[in-house]
Amino acid sequence: MLGLFVLAAACAPATPAPESPSVASAAPSSSSMKVPPIVQTGALVLRSRAQEVPAERIQTKEMRDLVATMIATMRAAPGVGLAAPQIGIPLRVVVLEDREDLLKNLTPEERRERERSPFPTRVFFNPVLTPVGEDRAMFFEGCLSVKGFVGLVDRSLEVEVSGLDEKAQPQTWRVRGWPARILQHEVDHLDGTLYIDRMKTRSFATAEHAKAVYNGKSIADIRKMLGL
Ligand code: ZN
Repeated sequence: MLGLFVLAAACAPATPAPESPSVASAAPSSSSMKVPPIVQTGALVLRSRAQEVPAERIQTKEMRDLVATMIATMRAAPGVGLAAPQIGIPLRVVVLEDREDLLKNLTPEERRERERSPFPTRVFFNPVLTPVGEDRAMFFEGCLSVKGFVGLVDRSLEVEVSGLDEKAQPQTWRVRGWPARILQHEVDHLDGTLYIDRMKTRSFATAEHAKAVYNGKSIADIRKMLGL
């Protein structure tokens, strides 16, 4: 297995975000959206359990604005997923997508190995995740809230997620490979868990070092190098 991949490589502005108590404070004021800063590790909002969004609140302007802000923030970073606590909103909402332009530096073999291909934007309110089967996969991950670092994280290869979409309709998505990894990472955020809690700590590295040292190497080789 080839090694390096960063879940969300590039990062947002370094300014720490205020822990906005209400959604309204993070909502866009116009269509030319200025995205909020991404909350960095150390902020308690990233270590708290986010609250469920009542179904009847999902189709309000407040929630539409929140989702639009989250998608714009994810794209601006750029990243492949974002959870509401990462912009200071303690609610159970995640957005995710993978785009061709984020995949352009992966070889076809790397794409196959990660089971990574583009998928359209998905929005989940109150997602509940269930692993499917016993298969696991280990790759490098990064996080927009732990800017500039990566680590190896072992995750379920396949998951099923249920929740409500932006029209408050129930949806279920069974998925494997890279989107399954993104989902696990984002839903973890809703429970106050960061990838650094799950990573092989000896693999923790700056994104720069990881790229220089591990790029093109197999996960098996990297584990050997690190004594894992
Ligand atoms: Zn993250």
